[in-house]
Amino acid sequence: MLIVMEKTATPEEINNVVTSIEEKGYTARPIPGGDRVSIGILHNKGPVDGSLFSGLAGVKDVVRVTRPYKLVSREFKMEDTIIKLGDVSIGNGHLTIIAGPCAVESEIQALTIAEHVKKAGASIFRGGAFKPRTSPYSFQGLGEEGLKILAKVRETTGMPVVTEVMDDATFDLVEEYTDIIQIGTRNMQNFSLLRRAGGSDKPILLKRGMAATIDEWLMAAEYILERGNGQVILCERGVRTFVHHSRNTLDLSAVPVILKESHLPIIIDPSHAAGRRDQVIPLSRAAAAVDAHGLMVEVHHEPEKALCDGSQSLYPEQFQELCDQVRSIFNIYNA
Ligand code: PEP
Ligand code: MN
Repeated sequence: MLIVMEKTATPEEINNVVTSIEEKGYTARPIPGGDRVSIGILHNKGPVDGSLFSGLAGVKDVVRVTRPYKLVSREFKMEDTIIKLGDVSIGNGHLTIIAGPCAVESEIQALTIAEHVKKAGASIFRGGAFKPRTSPYSFQGLGEEGLKILAKVRETTGMPVVTEVMDDATFDLVEEYTDIIQIGTRNMQNFSLLRRAGGSDKPILLKRGMAATIDEWLMAAEYILERGNGQVILCERGVRTFVHHSRNTLDLSAVPVILKESHLPIIIDPSHAAGRRDQVIPLSRAAAAVDAHGLMVEVHHEPEKALCDGSQSLYPEQFQELCDQVRSIFNIYNA
């Protein structure tokens, strides 16, 4: 349930509603909007009697929430969430491009790729330091050394960085070094990791589980918001289907659904969806056309030597082409 306050409601009236909700044993979560405050009711076990609150001073409306997720929904918050990192914004009105290698392999590799992607138009650098690999014999990432290299990339290029956290044990370490914390497809329903992410003050990039429904994905995001971190970026990266022509199937229809259901930003990762270089540019154009708020793309200056996901990594020239094309598409509708 959501209590919508009058535009003119005073702080005392808002506090009074909060107290009254808490007295009934529920959690009250004030949600500041453009011109009025709403107060969400959380942790109710059954239906809430709205008439308990509708007569209180400053209350405009009592709205029943119809979705299983609350804090992530547009029912709770109409205004789009825009995530800001210095000059970089992610959310409605922006097409933010994140790019870099699958894995950080060395300082020279990361810095070389970072210079290329920055020049082409990326505003955030990506690179894995802890890699979730199917085989235990594959390159697992440089760990803390990789995080230090990411910090060097930020220092040298000025770009914020994003990297994946794989478990609770390394969360503090990853959080210390990175600007955005990525939770990967394999961990989308790792609830202890989601709760820990909810206690962070850094934005969380939450990838869709490879077999997750949109409701499951939004409920995973709800875990993070429920713990107090409202800065979540959703990332669609393809779901597992029966096809062999691509690694996964990019579910672009997720974008209009998320835009309708949630106020959170949604970006597209065409690289892990495709699993092959030749599909990445067309899928990126399509992502811009369906109003995604950004892209996360794997780029490598020597993909044939990459220690991870070389076959889906774009050459720098291709990435330049991608940036030019998606900007043109974005500008058609957002000029
Ligand atoms: C990644 O972005 O490096 C990654 C492992 O992606 P995903 O979790 O989507 O497979
Ligand atoms: Mn990868």
